[in-house]
Amino acid sequence: MYTFVAIEIIIKFSTIIIYHIKYKGVIMNRFFVGVVSLTMLLSITSIQANEKHGATHEKHWDYSKNGPTHWGEFSKTCAEGKSQSPINIKPGKVVELNHKYDIALNEDVHTKAKVIDNGHSIKVTPKKGGTITLNGETFKLLQFHFHGKSEHTVDGKRYDMVAHLVHQNPKTKQLAVIAVFFKEGEKNPILDSVINGLGKEIDIDPQDLLPKDKAHYFHYVGSLTTPPCSENVQWYLLKQPSQASKEQIEAFRKYYVDNERPIQELHDRVVEGN
Ligand SMILES: [Zn+2]
Repeated sequence: MYTFVAIEIIIKFSTIIIYHIKYKGVIMNRFFVGVVSLTMLLSITSIQANEKHGATHEKHWDYSKNGPTHWGEFSKTCAEGKSQSPINIKPGKVVELNHKYDIALNEDVHTKAKVIDNGHSIKVTPKKGGTITLNGETFKLLQFHFHGKSEHTVDGKRYDMVAHLVHQNPKTKQLAVIAVFFKEGEKNPILDSVINGLGKEIDIDPQDLLPKDKAHYFHYVGSLTTPPCSENVQWYLLKQPSQASKEQIEAFRKYYVDNERPIQELHDRVVEGN
């Protein structure tokens, strides 16, 4: 590449010198040679800069220019999947749940956790997450993060905020996400430490995020709501919302307010509830 550019420069350089010797006389030559050299030097620098930029700067998904309608460019599943999330829950069409679910955390979960801004949300990764049991299988809490408005809607209603607690079955790697809706009300014990702890390690108990009633929820099988939009994710949406104060919601939305994916088609899926 550089050899090619160098040859091109030498040819142009010589042509211009010859032109000036022939038609303009020798006096002006030094000036033109200087200008031409500078131009060529700048173009080489710019080519090098572009190549470097192209090599290191990949296209990234987001919620604006590379937003949800472009996510198929990052992962085909986002555009073509038939079990995508989030969805709108129609409580009138929910069928009775047919399997056992236990949201109780099975161990002492007071833990240290790392809080980061990953560019899409504020994410909290506990050192030692709790576990839930689904159909006799144990799922471990990997991380939780927030959206500035709820992604799922219930009868078209969007909640003020949502926390997604992402769990994984260590054996099968299957994911189960518990969605905790937030509505404006009382101060939540965990939100301040999360927002103020950005970039730090904090002490938390993830159970503090959950509402009093953890026994009633909607369940369906969907996907991650961000690329790669992988499917076969077990979703559990707690019916009772938790509360967060107006100030806490505003504090979070200073970071993220429009980080929710639009509602996806239900297709032939069924939503269960209890
Ligand atoms: Zn999420």
